Amino acid sequence: MDTIKSRFLEHYPHAKTELIYRNIYELLVCVMLSAQCTDKRVNIVTPALFARYPDIKSLANANLDDIKELIKSVSFFNNKARHLLTMAQQVLADFGGEVPTTQEALKSLAGVGQKTANVVLIEFFNANVMAVDTHVFRVSHRLGVSRAKSAIDTEADLTKAFKTQLFALHQAFVLFGRYVCKALRPECAQCFVQEFCTTRSNFKPA
Ligand code: SF4
Repeated sequence: MDTIKSRFLEHYPHAKTELIYRNIYELLVCVMLSAQCTDKRVNIVTPALFARYPDIKSLANANLDDIKELIKSVSFFNNKARHLLTMAQQVLADFGGEVPTTQEALKSLAGVGQKTANVVLIEFFNANVMAVDTHVFRVSHRLGVSRAKSAIDTEADLTKAFKTQLFALHQAFVLFGRYVCKALRPECAQCFVQEFCTTRSNFKPA
């Protein structure tokens, strides 16, 4: 496990999200939009969204249909628009307009589950937590680091296996899964952990 960890940290020493944001409000919105959608697509819609709604207060007072219109090219835009509006209203009512910075408080917001909360904490604070998206799930199963069926149980396995520098490993696993250990036709010739690979099958969280 130590070798897998050190190889990832060596190969991705400065891994960061590809989402474009300027503050924690924008990061939270980006991460909420990125569920089952590519970062590239999110980065296309957010400039106009943030120009119209630059902060929690403006988003909390937004017109739902207008949010939908601005994010309509993102997957599940109807639900995501509703969640964005409610999330902003909750932050205003329950947290004085400041995006909260603990996992528990983030998870109290509409549309924010454990993965979204952890990604925000990883990205903004380099928190020592793991978040399991489709890439992290696939890579950790191919490498035999986890055999869990759900993302939450996989997160627990990875946390136990790697213990420290989880934020860096999360970012590294995401980039490795996105560009090398792809779901279909992984680039195994470029793989730096090939000797640990247990299967090239695809895996998806239950
Ligand atoms: S050998 Fe291929 S399938 Fe296995 S971990 Fe490496 S890139 Fe992924």
